[in-house]
Amino acid sequence: MGLKTATLKTVSFDIVCPNNHDQTVTFSKEGFEEDLSSGGPLFHCNTCDTDWSPSKDQIAVFRKALAS
Ligand SMILES: [Zn+2]
Repeated sequence: MGLKTATLKTVSFDIVCPNNHDQTVTFSKEGFEEDLSSGGPLFHCNTCDTDWSPSKDQIAVFRKALAS
């Protein structure tokens, strides 16, 4: 069965929730593109239990970092 086992590069980003709590998210390039194509990514803050989506600018920054 053609399961790919390539090592995925992951990048961690420091993000801030809408209520100013610091969070860290980790993406792989593939996972990030998958999230994008399914309408995401959606972040979650463990401190105030809020979900939010990154801005287009943030997405551009993530993409650039994952592509390098
Ligand atoms: Zn928060």
